[in-house]
Amino acid sequence: MKININLLPKIIILFICFSACNQNYEESTGYIMTVNGKISPEQMGISLPHEHITTDFIGAEKVKQPQYQQDSAVEIILPHLNKLLENGVNTLFECTPNYIGRDVKLLQRLSELSQINIITNTGYYSAVDKKFLPAHAYTETKEEISAHWEKEWMEGINGTGIKPGFIKLGVGKGKLDSIEVKLLEAAILLSKKSGLTIAMHTGDGEAAKDEQRILEANGLESGQMIWVHAQNGTDEERELLAKKGVWVSLDGISEKRIEEYLQMVSYLKEKNLLHQLLISHDDGWSVENNDGEISLKLFGNGNSKPYSTIFEIFVERLTFAGFTRDEITQIMVENPKKAYVIDPIGN
Ligand SMILES: [Zn+2]
Repeated sequence: MKININLLPKIIILFICFSACNQNYEESTGYIMTVNGKISPEQMGISLPHEHITTDFIGAEKVKQPQYQQDSAVEIILPHLNKLLENGVNTLFECTPNYIGRDVKLLQRLSELSQINIITNTGYYSAVDKKFLPAHAYTETKEEISAHWEKEWMEGINGTGIKPGFIKLGVGKGKLDSIEVKLLEAAILLSKKSGLTIAMHTGDGEAAKDEQRILEANGLESGQMIWVHAQNGTDEERELLAKKGVWVSLDGISEKRIEEYLQMVSYLKEKNLLHQLLISHDDGWSVENNDGEISLKLFGNGNSKPYSTIFEIFVERLTFAGFTRDEITQIMVENPKKAYVIDPIGN
């Protein structure tokens, strides 16, 4: 039998799906909170732990969202989510925070139509010179800020009943400043009560080390934190934090940077740290408004189409580099479950 080489990535993904269905792994306790309610971690299948669907970079104090008709956004976005399902993906973590265009009703509708599990978040993003931080984040205490996020967790986001499945924060480079520390401590308060994982968009390894130190000082396990954009650190920094139990998320895989990511993943494999690794594209759209003409523009992050480079290129490259089916399953199925599972009893 001749195997069409173009089918190879699909065959590899099919094997991963097969492995995911034939659990050789310990059953997870706890649950995952999607925009359509709780699911068991076993229902996640192949997961993308850091992507975006819509974003709006106008700024926290200006944003009047959404700036599009939901129907037209659904029409443009849905085919890409359907394609994800074809690629074997069942679950997508939507990492767009409040004040950058988070639109949970749109996510819910897209999830219902595509049958992809979508998970949204609570929290504030203070990277990029705090352009996306609301004014009250400066004046309120960590307890008051945490209470806003807890309300979303307990009652749903803005009266929708849709609950966040993780906390998303964003910080810049270097040691955290006082506002960033306050936001992280607010997130730690909520994580301890709820079991929600904290996904930290982080400018560099120095900032990531500081975050882990703050977690430890506040008595929260390092495994409750994902170092988002860990590709901005060094191999040694990723090794150090992965050994402490932090989730290392290499989430900017693109057509142009395949070799770089292969090297970063291989380094973690050499150090026996694949069990702390997450991979994703960090793909998504921003809303463009040209004289009243609304369109969605793909992020310019090196991918010509969203959410596909891992399945069409990277998995095949991992296989050729000697990664086993079990290792790839661990990275794409098992690790996202463990990173995002909500298990209040375990905290
Ligand atoms: Zn992102």
